[in-house]
Formats: sequence, C-alpha cells, structure tokens
Amino acid sequence: MVYPGGVTALADVSLDVAAGELVAVVGPSGSGKSTLLNIIGTLDRPTSGTVHIAGQDVATLGDRRLSALRAREIGFVFQQFHLADGLSAVDNVATGLLYAGVPRRQRREHALRALARVGLAHRTGHRPGQLSGGEKQRVAIARALANRPSLVLADEPTGALDTATGQSVLRLLRRLHEEGTTIVLITHDRGIAASLPRQIEIRDGRLIRDDTQSSPVPARAVLSVSPARAVESGGPARAVHSGAPVGDVVSDR
Ligand code: ADP
Repeated sequence: MVYPGGVTALADVSLDVAAGELVAVVGPSGSGKSTLLNIIGTLDRPTSGTVHIAGQDVATLGDRRLSALRAREIGFVFQQFHLADGLSAVDNVATGLLYAGVPRRQRREHALRALARVGLAHRTGHRPGQLSGGEKQRVAIARALANRPSLVLADEPTGALDTATGQSVLRLLRRLHEEGTTIVLITHDRGIAASLPRQIEIRDGRLIRDDTQSSPVPARAVLSVSPARAVESGGPARAVHSGAPVGDVVSDR
C-alpha cells in the first residue's frame, strides 16, 4: 500500500484468517496497523493486489456495492466508540442496520438482541452520555454484531478505557469468539495481544510474526492477505482452503 507522497505503509503482507478465529494484530505506532485495518475493512483499496470479502473480489465492486458488502459482512469497533450522542443505545445499534438494508421493525429487534448479548438489556434506552466508557464500548460492540457480520474488526477497542474496564471488554470479545464470532483486534499493547489465541505482528509495514495456538487449520477462510506476486504465480494462499472464503485480502507494495 503506497500513499500519495510515496509512503509505503504495507508491503508483502500475507495473512489468512478463518471463520471463528480471534486474532490480534500488534505493532508499534506507524507500523501500518491502521492501513491494514482500512484495507481489510474495505475503507481503502490497496495500491496493488486484491481484496476478497465473503468470496468477493472487492476490486470488481463499485462504491455502492462495496458499501453494501461492508455493511453486511464487517462490523467495526473503534477506540472512541463513535456513538451518536442524541440516540439511545438501541437506536445507535439499530441505525447501523439501516445501511445493511434491514427493514425497520427488524432493526429494533436485532438491536435489542445484540444489546442483550453484550449484557446491556437493562440499558437500551440510555443515551451515550448516561453510560460508562465500558458500557459505551459494549453498545459499539453490539452495533458491530447486530447484523451478524462475517468479521468484526476492532481497532484498539480498549484504548480509551481504564485497565479493569478494558479487561472486561476483552472478556466480552473472548466470549463472543467462543460463541463463534470472527474477530480481528488491532492493538499496540503486547499484553493484550499475548492474551489472545493468535498474534500477528507488523513492523514497518511488514508482517514479521504470526503465532497461533490453535493447531488444526479451520475449514473456512474469512480473510486472506498475500502479496500480489504470489497470487499471480498461482500463489499458495487460496488453494489450501476448502469452502467459501469469507474474506481475502491481497496486498503488495
Ligand atoms: P499504525 O496504525 O500502526 O500507527 P499507520 O497504518 O497509520 O500505522 O501508518 C503506517 C505508515 O503510513 C506511517 O508511516 C504513516 O505515516 C503512513 N500513513 C498513514 N496514513 C497515511 C496517509 N493517508 N497518507 C500518507 N501516509 C500515511
């Protein structure tokens, strides 16, 4: 990934994520984590290489279809929650479903269910200003989950929280993972990364480590990043997967 001005923010990154995984992407500030997140999240298109989400090569999609794919397949969680102050918790979650094309009545039902999943069934009518930091992040996580996306992308989700609250948000993400949610969590905190089943380390735009504790290769690929070069030469990444890939990112310089 090359930004205007010639900064190469990501190069030769090769990464596969399967359905049900919980993956930490760790690296110091400026290492390329946000760039990777933006590419995986289809917010940016890579300078070269391809991105597949839910079996779709996103390069073939126009902006509208790409937005629809994003709304359907990816749930975002941000450090600063990004909730609308004037809306109740349930409306914050339901609004997210608007863009996924969910009909109005179902939006509310889905939102209430998602809030219950994150332990906020008793706070659905509260506005962000009436909620603690941890509760706000739970609302944001509920919003990310509400449409049952293929992949939840969490960018420093505990970064704005005190240690104890951050731990409880991490426990929630772990529980969601145990329930089958696929999560990629971006962090600069090695302690957090070390506590998760798989860690990917980025340094100077390159993937320098990929440790996983889960040995058997899961059947369904959710996400796959590999250099364009490898793919052009009939590359290794996609051939090894059976089943429909949910996400697939290829990035090169
Ligand atoms: P991290 O999220 O790990 O802090 P980033 O992905 O934000 O790292 O940045 C990686 C590199 O790309 C840095 O050198 C940064 O300065 C550069 N960069 C990020 N965004 C842009 C941009 N929009 N234009 C130019 N350079 C950028």
